[in-house]
Amino acid sequence: MNCLKKLKVLGESARYDLCNYVEPGIETYLSGKAPGIYNSTSPNGQCIPLLKVLMTNKCSNDCKYCMNSRSSKLERYEFTPMELSNLFLDYFNKGYVEGLFLSSGASKEMESSMEKEIDVARILRDYGYAGYIHLKILPGTSYELIKRAMSLANRVSINIESATPDGFEELTSTKNFKIDILRRMNWINKLSKKDPDLAPSGQTTQFIVGATDENDEDILKRTQLLYDKYEIKRSYFSAFNPLKDTPLENSIAPHPKRTSRLYQADFLLNSYGFSLDELVFDDAGNIETEIDPKYSFAMNNMDLFPIEINEASFEELLKIPGIGKISAQKIIILRKRGIRIKKLEELKNLGVAIKRAEPFIKLNKSYQSVLNF
Ligand code: SF4
Repeated sequence: MNCLKKLKVLGESARYDLCNYVEPGIETYLSGKAPGIYNSTSPNGQCIPLLKVLMTNKCSNDCKYCMNSRSSKLERYEFTPMELSNLFLDYFNKGYVEGLFLSSGASKEMESSMEKEIDVARILRDYGYAGYIHLKILPGTSYELIKRAMSLANRVSINIESATPDGFEELTSTKNFKIDILRRMNWINKLSKKDPDLAPSGQTTQFIVGATDENDEDILKRTQLLYDKYEIKRSYFSAFNPLKDTPLENSIAPHPKRTSRLYQADFLLNSYGFSLDELVFDDAGNIETEIDPKYSFAMNNMDLFPIEINEASFEELLKIPGIGKISAQKIIILRKRGIRIKKLEELKNLGVAIKRAEPFIKLNKSYQSVLNF
């Protein structure tokens, strides 16, 4: 079997594993250059092309949303570790990619699928490749194999898919939420703590949003728990896509803005000091899709506003729509130098989105504008 043909199929199959924040509808698959290349964004906003591919689409699991599940009639392909490492090095040496994101279906001998992923990473490291490798840990992988994977990878991840054990059970009968997922996340965390050189960029995870009735509150509660308990570096939210020939093909896809709102809410919780009970959920436990969660918070807590820009603490500034971390820092720095901000224009020059912030602020004791309902 020709490697390029395998790459076309197994690169396409890897599309639903997220390695960065993806705005729904924006395709990150760079099909123009060569198959299997995706854009990933580093924490500092830099764009990094990765070869993102499955080792195999053979799978003994029955995840209902997945085109590779065991009941699917599609043709099955598999790379050997040598084929895949040669292919990666070819892409890398041509400057097409700067890193590898490797996942796999879990064939019957699940440990052997994981071993093959590890073999690819080992071959690349033996060759002298020192760049980025992200290995997907397959549910149920043994402690020893996880440790080996972490000794070779920069980052590892195991997909939680669902926020609750019940939701997880709705999606698959062959994996166990607590044992195959949470226990493995715990091992990864413990190994990282014991030896910080193991997968130094830590672990991430991914939720499939909208495949079950789980609401945004369930999902955000679970992400908080994962950050606190297993020190997950990032949660990715992948919008459920009802794929043809899967058991969920007739289900309804989530609202196109739902995952964006979840990312925004997750950001407020983890970077802006919001607590879960400050976020506004509707009666069904979901975030409003038409308004961003920070604006929604402000509208529901008008008694906290307007906030005097020249007196507010850093934390209070972060609660104001239109003010981000960098602009809040700039405001505090100016204040420490004894400079008071008197005009909206000055705020604008500090990077504040004036139109959004205006109804919620006072400048030099004067209220800037009122909300028009
Ligand atoms: S484990 Fe589930 S999601 Fe992963 S390839 Fe198999 S069926 Fe698909």
